Amino acid sequence: MGKVVVALAAGCAVAACVVASMMVERSVRRRRAWRRVVRLLEELEEGCATPVGRLRQVVDAMAVEMHAGLASEGGSKLKMLLTYVHKLPTGKERGTYYALHLGGTNSRVLRVQLGGQRSTIIGRDLDRQPIPQNLMTSTSEELFDFVATLLKDFVEREEKGSITTQQESRELGFTFSFPVKQTSSSSGNLIKWTKGFSVEDMVGRDVSECLQQAISRKGLDMRVAVLVNDTVGTLALGHYDDEDTVAAVIFGTGTNACYLERADAIIKCQGLLTTSGGMVVNMEWGNFWSSHLPRTSYDIDLDADSPNPNDQGFEKMISGMYLGDIVRRVILQMSQESDVFGPVSSKLHVPFILRTHLMAAMHEDDSPNLTEVARVLKDTLEIPDVPFSVRRLVVNICDVVTRRAARLAAAGIVGILKKIGRDGSGGIAGGKTKVGSKNKMMRRTVVAVEGGLYTDYTMFREYLNEAMEEILGEDVAPYVVIKMTKDGSGIGAALLAASHSASSTG
Ligand code: ADP
Ligand code: MG
Repeated sequence: MGKVVVALAAGCAVAACVVASMMVERSVRRRRAWRRVVRLLEELEEGCATPVGRLRQVVDAMAVEMHAGLASEGGSKLKMLLTYVHKLPTGKERGTYYALHLGGTNSRVLRVQLGGQRSTIIGRDLDRQPIPQNLMTSTSEELFDFVATLLKDFVEREEKGSITTQQESRELGFTFSFPVKQTSSSSGNLIKWTKGFSVEDMVGRDVSECLQQAISRKGLDMRVAVLVNDTVGTLALGHYDDEDTVAAVIFGTGTNACYLERADAIIKCQGLLTTSGGMVVNMEWGNFWSSHLPRTSYDIDLDADSPNPNDQGFEKMISGMYLGDIVRRVILQMSQESDVFGPVSSKLHVPFILRTHLMAAMHEDDSPNLTEVARVLKDTLEIPDVPFSVRRLVVNICDVVTRRAARLAAAGIVGILKKIGRDGSGGIAGGKTKVGSKNKMMRRTVVAVEGGLYTDYTMFREYLNEAMEEILGEDVAPYVVIKMTKDGSGIGAALLAASHSASSTG
């Protein structure tokens, strides 16, 4: 009996030793895995670093590239497309105007009534109409007949019961979110389709003319008065609300910017003989590139895997389409090099599965246990419950990626201000304003900003605003105002139709 007890006790001791040593081994392995992911996070932080000195280099590079792009076609990765828009709405416009926005997936029609008092916009939005998939690859006639029908139905509904008799043709602002080479403020030829469209008989043709013909086919009395892209619409609405607005930037699925260039810069660079006043330039800044941009292996892989490698480099670091996918790539790497996320989830291999709004939800999770992080990891990436420290790690990854994006975006904006002499530095463009000097005060400068990434992602917005102040310095920063606009891409086109119409301010 005694022997049995001794043997049992010895057995238990051995088992306890084995368990203990297994636990030690496991904890050593855990610690090693943890050290590995912390190292990867540190590398990510170093790779994404944006100290203010580097941001200033990006500012300078942006201003230099803007010059080069204006100077000659193909002179820069920035296309710097002339829009022939010389007049921005001032708030004095009167009358009723229509707008049509043909975007990536939706088509929208709206009407504004302007009372000449800036505040009296009555915008009426027709619900977004999805563009039927088959029309995206059909013929121009079918595509434009579809939007012309939307327009006609909308006009009939809006004007039903209205006693005012139509004296002049209705005026329409057309926002077309694809690359166009403008030939005037109301016409331009499609350069190429993007976003899954391929209506082959349209390429190279005048976009306004196609729409105008379709409108006529439907028997609608309406004139396409202006043709713009969405950034120009945003600038128009910004300027309508506040005449100090000189530039507009979109941070949505993609990113782009436009600004008001001085007449002499346009004449000198483009060889135009005259221009009446300044002109709005569509930068197509998503394609900006500079060796000063902090690039990581994740960015390089994302670009290589994309359908347009070496294209839209700035956009791939900044816009809503890509931020979530950078985070996915970092988590995948960490998961492959350690077991802190458990076995590698097959979902981590799926491109764009982690959408940016989900990334934002994790980043901005303020619950004590980071339950939102756990939920997104589980529901979207099929990563089962992970400890708090790992959830925290994910929040840190989101923070690094968004902070870099927002700070680079801010540098881009200051680059525009530098080009037009509004950054308070005297800049390349020879800006003569000097803060603090007695007679030459820095002018108030407004930049209109629109797009879901800016409006709905608080951390992105705060990092962007913070970086603006850092780059500009405390003396200049108060003169530069970032203003959010809403639906400028559509409303702005109607406002431009108004400011380009002879009857609106007369
Ligand atoms: P689009 O650019 O497609 O015209 P929006 O300007 O509305 O449309 O921007 C939508 C994009 O903004 C989404 O694709 C997404 O990337 C981003 N976005 C929307 N909501 C959020 C959010 N809450 N947090 C972060 N990004 C968001
Ligand atoms: Mg948009």
